[in-house]
Amino acid sequence: MRFVHDNLPQRVCFGSGEAATMLEREIASIGATRVMVIAAKAEAGLADRITAGLPVAVRHDDVVMHVPVEVADRARIASVNADALVSVGGGSTTGLAKAVALTSGLPIVAVPTTYAGSEATPVWGLTEGARKTTGIDPVVLPKVIVYDATLTTSLPVEMSVASGLNALAHCVDSLWAPKADPVNAAFAAEGIRSLRAGLPRIVAEPGDLPGREQVLYAAYLSAAAFASAGSGLHHKICHVLGGAYNLPHAQTHAVILPYVLAFNAPAAPDAEQRIATAFGTVRAIDGLRELRDAVGAPRALRDYGFSEADIPAAAEAILPAVPPGNPRPVTVEDLRRLLQAAWSGGPF
Ligand code: NAD
Repeated sequence: MRFVHDNLPQRVCFGSGEAATMLEREIASIGATRVMVIAAKAEAGLADRITAGLPVAVRHDDVVMHVPVEVADRARIASVNADALVSVGGGSTTGLAKAVALTSGLPIVAVPTTYAGSEATPVWGLTEGARKTTGIDPVVLPKVIVYDATLTTSLPVEMSVASGLNALAHCVDSLWAPKADPVNAAFAAEGIRSLRAGLPRIVAEPGDLPGREQVLYAAYLSAAAFASAGSGLHHKICHVLGGAYNLPHAQTHAVILPYVLAFNAPAAPDAEQRIATAFGTVRAIDGLRELRDAVGAPRALRDYGFSEADIPAAAEAILPAVPPGNPRPVTVEDLRRLLQAAWSGGPF
């Protein structure tokens, strides 16, 4: 065994019902006195509640998915007098805080309310027109993550499932991504196991706190694995689709994952075995199928605004982004077939 693994410098605090207390402690420990709270309008009430004890200088609720550059510019202007950022929300909100940190260097304390996992990565993203640009910069990695599963009980079941499958995609893709290593593979396997345990509990009872905790814990593991391993084929496909066709992030990941797993698994036996073991099934694809059936996973891209006519251009746009080390070679025809199946929700 021979590898180099970087651990990211980040503090992870986890406690259900403890977000307000943890935030006060962490903001005091970084010495911030003028906090900018970023939370979308829908999460503003929740953010007000957990930030009441903080020295808040600005509250900002202008949040849009995939962080359009003009939205980032407005947030940057609003942040001029702040000395720290607290983001409360899903990946879109964390993403906006990262866009501010990218140009200002302000420290972020992230309070995630979905399972997207952006809080555990140094990856930023901005969208200009139909083009999504991403980059990696240590300055955007939140200094602290505050995980409180009670903040996720309001996330509707459908979104919880899609977001949980987004986390699952981080786990699966990290097993064959460019910097895959045994440490992030261990995170990924535990993430898959925990999602398998937690997601059906949320579907059965959305307020089930142990289920929410399992999935939130998995969201962290999955994102840490992804941050370390980098983007594999799955993320490259979703990145192009999300940016160019403005598809909803979590649902796109949820739909694409089984097709990528079915495509790569025969050429990646070790990854296949690890995923299967984590699911407790003989074949990885069966474990994923069972979980998807149990939770009513999103099935087809056509349900989320992707048009069949866009398949050829999308395949051409994805091809140059395919990681050279993907377990098997990928042709434009492979991508067309994969997108066609994912568009219709056909067999994988
Ligand atoms: P999102 O942040 O857009 O949230 C989806 C919806 O859920 C929104 O309407 C939001 O208001 C609502 N919501 C959030 N928390 C809620 C709660 N607790 N209760 C009720 N409603 C709630 O979606 P997302 O999937 O979390 O994030 C997607 C974005 O994150 C994309 O732009 C994606 O590119 C980015 N992302 C980045 C990384 C990274 O490493 N940089 C990783 C994952 C996702």
